[in-house]
Amino acid sequence: MNLWCELAWLGGDEPERGVLIEIEDGAITTVRAGADPGDAERLDGLTIPGLANAHSHAFQRALRGRTHSGTGSFWTWREQMYALAETITPDAYLPLARATFAEMALAGITVVGEFHYLHGGGNAMAEAVIQAADDVGVRLTLLDACYLRGGPDSFRDASAHAWARRVGELRDGELLRIGAAIHSVRAVDFESAKVVAAWAADRGAPLHAHVSEQPEENESCQQENGLTPTLTLAEAGAISPSFTAVHATHLAPNDIAVLGFANVCLCPTTERDLADGIGPARQLREGGAKLCTGSDSQAFIDPFEEARAIELDERLATGVRGNHTPAQLMEAATSGGYDSLGWPGGGRLAPGAPADLVNVSLDGITLAGTPPEHAVEATIFAAGPRDIRHVMVAGRWIVRNNETVGTVP
Ligand SMILES: [Zn+2]
Repeated sequence: MNLWCELAWLGGDEPERGVLIEIEDGAITTVRAGADPGDAERLDGLTIPGLANAHSHAFQRALRGRTHSGTGSFWTWREQMYALAETITPDAYLPLARATFAEMALAGITVVGEFHYLHGGGNAMAEAVIQAADDVGVRLTLLDACYLRGGPDSFRDASAHAWARRVGELRDGELLRIGAAIHSVRAVDFESAKVVAAWAADRGAPLHAHVSEQPEENESCQQENGLTPTLTLAEAGAISPSFTAVHATHLAPNDIAVLGFANVCLCPTTERDLADGIGPARQLREGGAKLCTGSDSQAFIDPFEEARAIELDERLATGVRGNHTPAQLMEAATSGGYDSLGWPGGGRLAPGAPADLVNVSLDGITLAGTPPEHAVEATIFAAGPRDIRHVMVAGRWIVRNNETVGTVP
């Protein structure tokens, strides 16, 4: 299949014009700017790599619009989330996860990192998530989370070794990677964190953990381990280029230095909803951390809103504009997430990359009138799901003309 893109983002702050993309067996073989359309399918507007959602809890979509009024904190929201989790069965989870992933596909998301801790004592919930992603056609990294203490019974495995045995029964597929997660230093003790980190390292699997979302987590971790959550995870052998710290909101200078060897997933729309705080995104990036983003609680599903919030929240915190360039924000929304989720080389319009891409309309109500040279900036700072026209995963269209192609409710 050959596509000819009026404009395509190949990595700079401005798009390239007349870009021919050749695709074979689900992968991109050729990318050439300034090409003639020939008999290729013509894509108007801006074509970008697939957008990665590096941190999702699909079931929390059922809390949208139900927890936002009144007062409270992350901790009171968590009680509402626990109550919901207790009611979900695998049969109920399949249509819920499918609808959530369909909403993601319509927002341009081509790969989801599902941070999965709804176990219910087995893999039936994981199988429901895997089926849901397959029905919609999105690529999935199932980050199966070790969760040993606190929380509802249904989150917990008996031990880290029991977790490893259970997760060992799940197999990678064409569009599926099995990864690991340490839910947090709250839910997993130091010795168990070492077991999960070693499991991921042995397999070269991605490893994620919630890190320093709230100051209270830092305080209790200091009391238990004598270290910050980041340094506790580093001591446990968790920090590597395959590791992703989710949130990383309340960090000490040493934490920022250590995370320079890893990925950091920011979830700004959830962090603002839960009054978590604003993480040091610019310091992290300048310290070497690779940034990515996630929809987390599904309060919103809009990867452009997550990406621009990295910059816009930092403006509010610092009083300075231009902490991150449009290209850096686009990288966080695309290649940064693919790298974090164990699909290295993905999230790029380049030979050898998976043929995952998104076509953004520049003639809709939001972006009409955008000069071509501003198309990348305009997309990052102003586009939304309504501007997503077509979405492709592994050479197959999963969204055409703003509608899903796969099995969705
Ligand atoms: Zn989370």
